[in-house]
Amino acid sequence: MAKRDYYEVLGVEKSASKDELKKAYRKLSKQYHPDINKEAGADEKFKEIAEAYEVLSDDTKRANYDRFGHAGANQGFGGGAGGFSGGGFGGFEDIFSSFFGGGGRRDPNAPRQGNDLQYRVDLTFEEAVHGVKKTIKITKEEECSTCHGSGAKPGTKPTTCSHCNGTGEINQAVDTPFGRMMNRSTCRYCDGTGKEIKEKCSTCHGAGKVNRPKTIEITVPAGVDNGQQMRVSGEGEPGINGGPAGDLYVVFRVKRHEYFDRDGDDIFFELNIPFTTAALGGTVEIPTLSGKGELNVKAGTQSGQRQRLRGKGVKNVNGYGTGDQIITINVVTPTKMTERQKELLKEFAEISGDELGDGDSFFDKMKKKFK
Ligand SMILES: [Zn+2]
Ligand SMILES: [Zn+2]
Repeated sequence: MAKRDYYEVLGVEKSASKDELKKAYRKLSKQYHPDINKEAGADEKFKEIAEAYEVLSDDTKRANYDRFGHAGANQGFGGGAGGFSGGGFGGFEDIFSSFFGGGGRRDPNAPRQGNDLQYRVDLTFEEAVHGVKKTIKITKEEECSTCHGSGAKPGTKPTTCSHCNGTGEINQAVDTPFGRMMNRSTCRYCDGTGKEIKEKCSTCHGAGKVNRPKTIEITVPAGVDNGQQMRVSGEGEPGINGGPAGDLYVVFRVKRHEYFDRDGDDIFFELNIPFTTAALGGTVEIPTLSGKGELNVKAGTQSGQRQRLRGKGVKNVNGYGTGDQIITINVVTPTKMTERQKELLKEFAEISGDELGDGDSFFDKMKKKFK
């Protein structure tokens, strides 16, 4: 498959600034992160986004890409086309440290966005189709109101950690076969925060955060489907050092319907009709998403034939029209008949010239033909 244009992948203009790129990348990588997005293809999409950002965030690679396209950008990779190694590029790690609130080198005092939360909501088929308001209860960390997040007893202040001098990291010399190397690790005295709390807040015991149940009202839009998710901005964990709060991702699980199957915005329904209706045609009552409906069965309908009711499906969640209801017709052959019914059918068969089993069968005819 042809590689997509990197600017297109990130949805930015060719003239996009570094900040615009970073913003677009942050948004998309969150949306398609495999830990969050379980939709088919999300993984590939995520990799594509990461690769595009890796190239466009590097001035040299971007310039090469602008001049020579994909071939140009990949020259700088070392590992061949598309091979991003994970360790070598600053931008990626930098973003992930703020993304997941961990890993990588960072300034412990810099504002960071809080962690994202995920919550699953079960919906009935109808709720997903028509939309619904849901109240969800989540337990999340919130800033401690006693110490306002500092973790220190009111009236006192956290001091700079004396073990790491506020950097949150300890550098230690280690002897290796390659010579003396510096080994960097998170300061275990302050847990990487760079701060020391002499007198801890009694409410949060120095954590600066407390777990609190919270009720959130969400409006589920009409047309959501199983596995889709919705972002509730700012309802994740609180930000660190005054950074913005993370987001809450609500993932929907939709129950199956008694009669309807759904594929995207189309819904499917199997309708049983008597063979007489199939032959003569008629109007049959059917369930639709909006209640009782009617279907005009054409005279001479065969079993397995489909009829499509345009616009009777699910309203697209992104506003792209409405799907159809597709009805598969099963013609039901009667199993219990009265003598009178049999008589009538036999008469019908005779007029039609149908074989009734007591005459020559198909195989008898074939034998005669070849004698
Ligand atoms: Zn506190
Ligand atoms: Zn420390």
